[in-house]
Amino acid sequence: MVKTHRVKLFKIFLLFIISSTLLFSGVNILKKVEITKGELRLEFKDFLPKKQIKHFALKNPPREVFDFKNTRLSKKNIAKNIKNVKIAQYKSNIVRVVVSSHKPYSCTPYKPILSLKTYHIPLPKGRNALPAKRYKKPKAKAKAKEKTKKVKKIAVSSSRSHKQELIVIDAGHGGHDTGAMVGGKKEKDLVLMIAKRLEKQLKKRGHPVYMTRKRDRFLKLPQRTKIADKKNAVVFISIHANSVPKRKRNKIQGVETFFLQNTRDARSQRIAARENKSVLKGTSKLSRSVILDSVLSGPKIVQSNKLAIDVHRRMMTNLRSRYSGVKDGGVRHAPFWVLVGASRPSILVEVGYISHPKERKRLFMPRYQELIAKGIAEGVDIYLDNRKKEIDF
Ligand SMILES: [Zn+2]
Repeated sequence: MVKTHRVKLFKIFLLFIISSTLLFSGVNILKKVEITKGELRLEFKDFLPKKQIKHFALKNPPREVFDFKNTRLSKKNIAKNIKNVKIAQYKSNIVRVVVSSHKPYSCTPYKPILSLKTYHIPLPKGRNALPAKRYKKPKAKAKAKEKTKKVKKIAVSSSRSHKQELIVIDAGHGGHDTGAMVGGKKEKDLVLMIAKRLEKQLKKRGHPVYMTRKRDRFLKLPQRTKIADKKNAVVFISIHANSVPKRKRNKIQGVETFFLQNTRDARSQRIAARENKSVLKGTSKLSRSVILDSVLSGPKIVQSNKLAIDVHRRMMTNLRSRYSGVKDGGVRHAPFWVLVGASRPSILVEVGYISHPKERKRLFMPRYQELIAKGIAEGVDIYLDNRKKEIDF
């Protein structure tokens, strides 16, 4: 009895500690923003610890980004229309300040010694500063027109922003490595057909594309992802088709999109093991374990997951709009070695099961292939749009 009483007391004590820290760790507020002596000066309500500031630069166009954690924008209208500067409540507890310029410049922000609550950010100077945008208030009658114009403008700018972003398409297998083989059909041929259609779809949308293989040839694992890194691709997409042993042939079908991560799911493990077989040939045990480490700590897992979701969704929607009974195998993760070396968002699409009689037939139809390719391309664009929004707001 005494013991339980003590435990109770301890629990109350804990609750007290937790609630009091919650009460006292108040959210900081960005109160005021002004430009003085070529600097953007931010004034906060409370002391601003350095830990709460994250500063990084982005390219194309050059931007200096500052995230102030645990901070909110003041409800008063602080100057938001400053030349070259965007300020917004990026997340519920993060204020983001973005400074744009013509060319990258050395931006060394600082906290003035005498004030603990302010933060100064040097702005780009002279010609490096972008021209101020003029905003004309639309007349009431013209407002509706303005709205449609705006929508168009957004569409144009988003496709433009993707133009320089290279996408690497990797048609799985090739050469002596046929991949799955059923009913006289080979995975390596099917995936090359779809990869070529995807290439066209992406180019149509303005993306430069690089194909790891354009014909029937074998490529070692490191060659595939190294290309993506060397070319500084924005995403890496590997195309494969699935297969199961004879006794399951009529049962298992569907589209699956994978991103790289280790898994305990037995089915995902089996699929990965089958795809890994050829690429692992000749890889030493030591380099395998080095690779495995990078799988488990892969920094691109979150982005790859997002990419996989967007691509998968569009593929399913497109296929189901024309074909009935297409099975949704979902977005999954598995340790695919082909994705390991890629230091960018990477996915592996299993377009379907060539072991399933009905699905195999469809997979070799040009119209079906086109829907897959279009779905992947649309998904990539959606992903890139969302990612851009994350950075730009
Ligand atoms: Zn494969």
